[in-house]
Amino acid sequence: MKLSDMALKIRPSSTLSLSAEANRRRDEGIDVINFSAGEPDFNTPENIKEAAIKAVNDNFTKYTPYAGIYELRAAVADELKKEGLEYEPEDIVISNGSKHALKNAFSAITDPGDEVIIPAPYWNSYADIVNMVYGVPVIVQTKKENLFKVSVDQLEEAYTPNTKALIINSPNNPTGTVYSKGELEKIADFAVRKDIYVISDEIYRRLIYSRKLRHTSIASLGDDIKERTIVIDGFSKSFSMTGWRVGYTASNREIADAIANIQSNSTSNINSIAQMAALEALKGDKGEVELMLKEFQHRRDFIAQRISDIPLLSSILPKGAFYLFVDVSKLLGKEVKGVMLNNSSDVAKVLLDSYNVAVVPSDAFGVSNYIRISYATSMRDIVEGANRIEKFVKQNF
Ligand code: PMP
Ligand code: GLU
Repeated sequence: MKLSDMALKIRPSSTLSLSAEANRRRDEGIDVINFSAGEPDFNTPENIKEAAIKAVNDNFTKYTPYAGIYELRAAVADELKKEGLEYEPEDIVISNGSKHALKNAFSAITDPGDEVIIPAPYWNSYADIVNMVYGVPVIVQTKKENLFKVSVDQLEEAYTPNTKALIINSPNNPTGTVYSKGELEKIADFAVRKDIYVISDEIYRRLIYSRKLRHTSIASLGDDIKERTIVIDGFSKSFSMTGWRVGYTASNREIADAIANIQSNSTSNINSIAQMAALEALKGDKGEVELMLKEFQHRRDFIAQRISDIPLLSSILPKGAFYLFVDVSKLLGKEVKGVMLNNSSDVAKVLLDSYNVAVVPSDAFGVSNYIRISYATSMRDIVEGANRIEKFVKQNF
């Protein structure tokens, strides 16, 4: 008896397992600073929680249409219009978080052996999701000098007749890089010319800190590119709703119908109460959401400055999302606390075991020599975590 080849290939989500390990140590009474998971520390805004409580009291507790309640699909379509994206409610499918939206999207477009171009550094689950649908992840290494953005030349090089899709994630996890409209136009031209799909993961679209930069959805750049793009978004990050599990796809009707069919036979609709909460998130007061954004910006400025003041460490100021991607290559090749630092996993291990700071080593994101610090945590933890990282470097180098 043997598990499927697919199951044997899939690794546990490194961000989630690292965070679980940090929380386990915390539960044991160790004062661990958890910079691992990208999970906002804020409570879900009150008006959203109240909408959920009302849904329970109104007995809104039965199956809903499997693609989501119409009002929520319509509210998403209205929201996307503000980004210059014209979708009908029927083009939107509400799923169990954007991770599930991605799985749905790839299930709808991927045949065994189809190649999916994934620019690295990439969010750790992409490659495994592609593997889960028997696709082939094709990793393209972006350059730090290019602010970790993929160029069309690199895409041309990665393209083969088996290429089916390309993933664009802007703002990006783990680097915080944000593509400009001009850059996306070139990528859109490439996708249209090669006749491939684009999966555009825009879950951090509300979390952009630079006044000069606006989020652009690649799907907004013309009918040809919109037709072949599946936009992915969710409520976890901007509304601090990680546990509620609400995300969605926006796509052409053929894909949306295929996704809805897949979902109807796998998870059915998502939780009815969470749908009411998400509806309030879109339609209700955004005061708390705006405060969160300001606080993230403040935290970003603080942690980026603190890390740049520490000798041997460097990072690029992230323009969006809530991660700082720190180059640790100058720490490698030395033994510290009995561990030979050969790669960023070794650095993360010493930080966790000896300094009680949990960070994600960059192998999870398809590149070497970086660690990812999530600053979606309290200022107290950010200050303390930065102090500990400084101590680690100053004591050992
Ligand atoms: N995409 C990106 C880029 C992410 O960082 C995450 C992590 N939360 C997700 C998708 C999935 O988020 P969720 O399933 O909570 O909506
Ligand atoms: N996406 C978040 C992260 O990168 C949460 C964990 C996960 O969904 O994998 O940390």
